[in-house]
Amino acid sequence: MSDRTEAEVQRLRAVLAVLAREFPDTTPPLDYASPFQLMAAVLMSAQTTDRQVNVVSPQLFAAWPDAAAMATADPEAVAEVIRSIGFFRTKARNLVAAARMIRDEFNGQMPDRMEDLVRLPGIGRKSAGVVLAHVYNTPAIIVDTHFGRVTRRLGFTTETDPVKLEHDLAAWWPHDTWNPASMRMNFHGRRWCTARSPKCSECPLQQYCPYPAGSAVGTGAT
Ligand code: SF4
Repeated sequence: MSDRTEAEVQRLRAVLAVLAREFPDTTPPLDYASPFQLMAAVLMSAQTTDRQVNVVSPQLFAAWPDAAAMATADPEAVAEVIRSIGFFRTKARNLVAAARMIRDEFNGQMPDRMEDLVRLPGIGRKSAGVVLAHVYNTPAIIVDTHFGRVTRRLGFTTETDPVKLEHDLAAWWPHDTWNPASMRMNFHGRRWCTARSPKCSECPLQQYCPYPAGSAVGTGAT
């Protein structure tokens, strides 16, 4: 590990200490009662707010609470229940197809490895990371638009491609930081470090962040 990286790890830990006070709870803001239901909720949350997902989840999980039940569902009936969220038809098809894959290829058990989770229809690396982190407590760097924006502005990476960004950070972030950083930087991006008008003058990370000085030239502005 280079001197620069050692110093950067210390800065990362200082940032995370502030964020831990700011956001003590790292639970995903989705309603679920089992690993399968978390997977289903995350699948539904693509391009939809968590609040909208939480509106449809009770009826969905009352009708089809687990993979065994969902695997027997008619995708049209599932679509009818979740029709208030975006892309509901595609998501309904993916929910049923994912449940059937869990039943047929994983012996009815939720997969617990990234390479298996991303085989489930509708589940990408971000969604798989949420399941790994919150169901299995496996370290995962969960890259979404908020996380990417915050980590770039904080100067931890310059990557914009989600997979490259994940690997860039994974190369030097200690494993114990992955899960708390994923959730808390996401929350921070929603509350303070917003895309169009970050609240830098009030931000609790101001002293650790190079962005305000560099923002005039557009550093990490996306
Ligand atoms: S100081 Fe500004 S750019 Fe840096 S983390 Fe805070 S809100 Fe984001």
